[in-house]
Amino acid sequence: MDFKMVAEHLIWTDEGYGNSAAIDLGEKVFVIDSMFNWELAKEWRSNIVQHFGKPVSGLILTHHHADHTFGNQVFSDLPIISSLEIRKITEEFEKEVWENETQEDRDEWEAGGYGVKNLQLTHSSLCFEKKLLLFGERKLELIQADGHTSGSTYLWEPETRTLIVGDLVFNKEFPYGGDATCNVVKWQEVIEDLIALEPEIIISGHGPAATVKDLEEINDFLSKSIDFVREKIVEGVTLKEIEADPHFPEYYSQDRTERKKITIERWVRFFKE
Ligand SMILES: [Zn+2]
Repeated sequence: MDFKMVAEHLIWTDEGYGNSAAIDLGEKVFVIDSMFNWELAKEWRSNIVQHFGKPVSGLILTHHHADHTFGNQVFSDLPIISSLEIRKITEEFEKEVWENETQEDRDEWEAGGYGVKNLQLTHSSLCFEKKLLLFGERKLELIQADGHTSGSTYLWEPETRTLIVGDLVFNKEFPYGGDATCNVVKWQEVIEDLIALEPEIIISGHGPAATVKDLEEINDFLSKSIDFVREKIVEGVTLKEIEADPHFPEYYSQDRTERKKITIERWVRFFKE
């Protein structure tokens, strides 16, 4: 499996559908997000152990989406840490969605690479509200930010100025904002908070490692999108017209037309509410 070493304390991989990272805090190694396929996650875990030469202490979830959590079972012998909100949403997903999926639905997941065969949906076992501090030799802060989804969490390691953000950052890729709990106004505010941290290393949920300049570009896109959708709603423009409007702010949307459509739909609904 291919992975990148950013610094001595940090490796990450984009072998899943989204990114997964592993951070060495000195005495403890934590994995961030478990990928979309548990067999891939298993391979990733052994790569991490081999790379750092020590066992993994726990898994941290940045949010509930399947492409970041379907490998959770590989870490079921360890604490699986998330905001309480994430646990609530994954429990709801299991009961309301997963248990009602037909074989056909599951085949579709499998075809998408989600590793549904022998999948054991596994929830977080250690939950927090708002903020949690983890300690090795260095400190890792887990901050519930919301935005991309309710419960979305970013990780900040102040000593090395390392930021691991999950899907709060889609770097150079049109962001998925279609979740029923997506709050685009909050999301834009969070990006401003991340910029203010002056991070030196930024691992995104999708796309390459980012810089503060990338965050500024995303901030600009989100701000313009918010203004655009608000204005159009005031003008009484329909959803279809907003979607088709060539003046909708641009952010790497080529090859992402379906994702863009779902996202605009959610954002319009958010402002109408
Ligand atoms: Zn996501």
